[in-house]
This record gives sequence, structure tokens and C-alpha cells, in this order.
Amino acid sequence: MKITQVESQVLRLPLNRPITAPLAPGSLPLAGDGPSFGGIRLDHLFMLAVHLDTDAGHRGLGFAYTLGGGGRALKALADADLSPIVLGENPLDHERIGQKVYWRLQTIGRRGLVSQAYSAFDLALWDIKGKAAGLPLHKLLGGARDSAPVYGSDTGWLWMTPDEIVEASRPYIEQGMMGVKIKVGNPRPEIDADRVTRVREVLGEEIWLAVDANQRYDYATALAMGRFFEEDIGVDWFEEPISCEDLAGHIRLRDKLELPIALGETLFGRDEFVKYLDSNAVDILQPDVTRIGGLTEWLKLAAVAETYHRPLAPHLLPEVAVHLACGLPGVTLVEWMPWLTRAFVEPPAIVNGRIVPPPGPGLGLEINPDVATKYQLPS
Ligand SMILES: [Mg+2]
Repeated sequence: MKITQVESQVLRLPLNRPITAPLAPGSLPLAGDGPSFGGIRLDHLFMLAVHLDTDAGHRGLGFAYTLGGGGRALKALADADLSPIVLGENPLDHERIGQKVYWRLQTIGRRGLVSQAYSAFDLALWDIKGKAAGLPLHKLLGGARDSAPVYGSDTGWLWMTPDEIVEASRPYIEQGMMGVKIKVGNPRPEIDADRVTRVREVLGEEIWLAVDANQRYDYATALAMGRFFEEDIGVDWFEEPISCEDLAGHIRLRDKLELPIALGETLFGRDEFVKYLDSNAVDILQPDVTRIGGLTEWLKLAAVAETYHRPLAPHLLPEVAVHLACGLPGVTLVEWMPWLTRAFVEPPAIVNGRIVPPPGPGLGLEINPDVATKYQLPS
């Protein structure tokens, strides 16, 4: 089998609710200025979609996303640098192709946009593998389960009031989802304390509730808030409490806190995760399929995590995460962030509160042509 054609496009997709880009601890304005709270308002993302055609008639779809910029750069990397490398290759040879890309493009980016753009190609190779085998991806990966627990993740932005968070979260809870994750990291941590207390009170003791600081706390605040979250609220995990570059801080925090520390969305390589694992600085790993360079790299990290007896909770992309969670026993839940959902004809469904993979082979996904036309980034 050979790859005969590569097509790429970048969509500029609006977000369901605006978010704010993370800033350094202590540099945030006070609450109360709506969706621009916390700095730069983000109301869209860029999605790179790649189609690989083969002489066997299989068409592989892969995708990646960036937040805060990089849309045109993704497209340029896909067309000028990556497409010529994969054209003519056998799409089943994902290791050979990955090695070619790594050694050819190493000097312009072992991390970051190069591997983010390549992750779309790598996903498309796995999509083809599933289609060639006539199997949904989760079956190819191991078939651990038929559906997976899922939590809502787009209902607790920093600019939202406690009542708005409760209102937005309620439909997820009523659908039977396990719970929700809300943002913390306010420059006045007492505001976070009030928000989390109120959400816990109204939504109840029994729901799963996690908090995500997006690295906005300094060490002392993270420690104090961590103690509050575990003792007063019963938080299920504390995500990115401090800077992802502060390994020593995470070691100290994890030593002093009982509640699990989750992180990994801003780590861009397996070696970075291994440092956290070797140092006992993390409980739950959250690698992002695109930022780590694709499904191939994600699976290698999953094997490492299993060796360390650490569960994995994929960052975003429920369309891919559902296959990981249904394929591998160590992937324990899926983050429901419906940012790309509108781009697909049939995204994964939530049934009885659990996420279920689409029935088709490979990823089981198809880009909705109307959406692609509407949001295509002009060249
Ligand atoms: Mg996060």
C-alpha cells in the first residue's frame, strides 16, 4: 500500500465559550471583567485536518489543534515539509515514517509546532491501519472496554460566576457524566475557595469534582489551596497546580498533599514525563495526543505509565481519547471538551453518562464538509 495524495486544511473554529490564555502567577487582574478576565481572550482555535489517500482506496483522516496562534504555521509545515516526506510511503509503516520525519525536521523543532503538525499525519496513519484491518481503533489498541467514564470540562472558566458554572454543569450531570472539572488560579485565592465551595454544595457530594489551576498558583498558594481542596471540599484531583517547569515544586507538593496531582498537557515529550515519574512528582498523567507528537508517541508513554502504575487521563480531544480509554486499561477516563465536535459528521456519543466510540473502522470520524467550508482559514 502507498500514500498517493495528501490534502490538508486549517479551520478556524469558534469555541463554545471563550477562555483566557494563562499568564504568570501574580500577573492577573482582579475578577469581574467578564470573559477577558486573566489576560488575553481566546474565542477560537485552529484545527489542522489531514487526509491521506492510498492506492488501496483507504482514506486516512488525522487532525491536530493549536490555541492562541499557529494556524498558518501548521498548514505550512503540513504542505511544505511533511507531505513530501510521507508521499509514496506505505501508511502501515508508522515507525519508519515517524523516524524519517524526526531526523529530517529535528533542527527546526523536536518539540512544538513540528510535532503538533506531524501528530495529524500520525493519527491519519492509525486511521488507515484501522480501515485496512476493518477495526475501530480501540479494538486495534486492545479492546479494554466498550465505553468509558467521561467528565465535563468546559463549564468552569475563571470568568464565570459560581451560578453560571452550576448552570452550565447541570446538563452534564443530568446526562449521567461522572462530574466536572473547574478552573482555579485566581489571583485572589479566596475567590477560588468560594467558587469551589459553592459548586460542591449545589452539585452535591457524590459527583466527581476536579480543579485545574493551569499553572497559575505559586508554590505557597498551591500548598494552602491543595490542603483546602482535600480537607474541605473533597476534590478528586488538583491539576497543574504550579508551573510545569517547576519539578522540584511538584515533588514538595506531592509529598505534603494527599489529593492526586494531575498534569502533562504542557509536557511535550516522553522524557519530560519520565522526569516527573522518576521523581514521584505526579499521580495522573495527561498527555495531549497532538503536543506529544501523535498517537504513536502517546502509546509509548502509556506503556511507561503502566510500568510506574500511574493512570492516564488524555488531555482534551475526546474523539481520540475515547479510543484510548476503550483500548487501554490504564486510561481511566475521558475529558469532554467539545471544541472540535462540530467539525465531525458523527462525533462520539454520550450514552447513559459514558462515552462510546463511533462504530466505523479507524477513528470512525469524517469531517463535515459544510463546517470545513464555513470555517476554512483563507490562504
Ligand atoms: Mg488542564
